[in-house]
Amino acid sequence: MNYDFSDKEFTLFVEIEALIGNFAKQTDSEKNDPALSEKNTRKALALLSQTPYLKLGLENLPDYNGLVTLMGAMEVVAAASPSLFLSIETSARIFGRILSAWGSDDQKAKLLPALLNGQIVGAVGLSEDTMNVENDPLTTTGTAHHNQVTISGHKQYVINGPVADWFAVAGRMDGKNVLFLVKKGTEGLTIGEKAATLGYEGATISKILLENCAIPADQVISPKNDNDLLATLRLWENQILMGASLGLMKRAFETAKTYAKSHRTGGRPIIAYQEVGFKLSEMLTLFQTSQLFAYRAAWTADTEPKDAESLTLCAKVFCTESAEQVASQAMKILGGSGFLSGNPAEGAFRCAKYGQIAGTSTEISRVKIGDFALGSMK
Ligand SMILES: Cc1cc2nc3c(=O)[nH]c(=O)nc-3n(C[C@H](O)[C@H](O)[C@H](O)COP(=O)(O)OP(=O)(O)OC[C@H]3O[C@@H](n4cnc5c(N)ncnc54)[C@H](O)[C@@H]3O)c2cc1C
Repeated sequence: MNYDFSDKEFTLFVEIEALIGNFAKQTDSEKNDPALSEKNTRKALALLSQTPYLKLGLENLPDYNGLVTLMGAMEVVAAASPSLFLSIETSARIFGRILSAWGSDDQKAKLLPALLNGQIVGAVGLSEDTMNVENDPLTTTGTAHHNQVTISGHKQYVINGPVADWFAVAGRMDGKNVLFLVKKGTEGLTIGEKAATLGYEGATISKILLENCAIPADQVISPKNDNDLLATLRLWENQILMGASLGLMKRAFETAKTYAKSHRTGGRPIIAYQEVGFKLSEMLTLFQTSQLFAYRAAWTADTEPKDAESLTLCAKVFCTESAEQVASQAMKILGGSGFLSGNPAEGAFRCAKYGQIAGTSTEISRVKIGDFALGSMK
């Protein structure tokens, strides 16, 4: 286990920070405006395609330490703009990993280069209309006839729904869990309006409805071990939510630190008050512990995949719950200005809630971690 980043990795982080950090500062990437979100997502993907970032986790890049490098790089992107991060990761890392892990050679050739060049945006429909896939089987179904498959189902929350060119839709066909690749504009695919959300307002989220939506049969992805499909998608989602949490903590911590040094009251900067320093030290402890936990989970997913699920759930709970605590402490340091809309600390606080309910929620994670612990005690 070595989580020290190499010079090449640091160079990559600096490059990403320069590209996406500067872009996020120039554009209002957290603004609730669907047209702007689409423009920003496409531009951000194009910028990142100039670096190896979009390929991390999808390809074996010898200069980098797999998912550990990815975790470090995700922190940089999420700290620059949480909303851009969510859109980019859904497209490159979840839609992209679906293709790279399970796609046929033809499917990969058709979509992966364009995805990794930032020319197309992907979205993933997993959660069904009225239930959580953790508890119930998928209800979206595909029926094959001749060279076509007709899909019916509703997906309640789809990140990038209003802006995506391609959707990977999870469903059942011939008694198996599969993914249907559906192109925007396909007859029978209806995209809902952008939903208003508590956080990540600059990302687009909508329902998608599939009503007798016919796709060519070669647009079905059928993983060999279909029983692992949902758990694998959740694992990838949980990794992204850890990266998001690290970025939110960095954003909140840096904002609070800068403010504590510059804001004066009682004739001195507030950092001179010991209680403010204690808050910063608690925040930094949670942030750095989360980093180590996330790196270890990432390293285990690369090296000992069979041990990764339980460790990732532990790390995901720790990182996502810490993100809320760190953002909350940052808001206290910012005083009244922390309560005003639009500062990075209150934005991080709102976004942190998403990490706790999405992927494997904190509650479901705790149940599963307990099950793993009991299993290992047998
Ligand atoms: C902004 C946003 C974006 C999203 N983007 C996407 C996307 O791009 N693609 C996609 O497929 N989905 C997406 N989702 C859906 C998201 O994954 C689900 O909201 C999530 O899986 C939770 O499902 P649910 O809302 O039905 O909650 P429920 O499952 O109804 O859970 C409600 C509460 O009950 C608890 N609970 C449920 N089951 C158990 C259990 N077995 N044990 C203990 N506690 C339990 C939960 O922890 C939670 O506290 C998105 C959601 C949001 C809010």
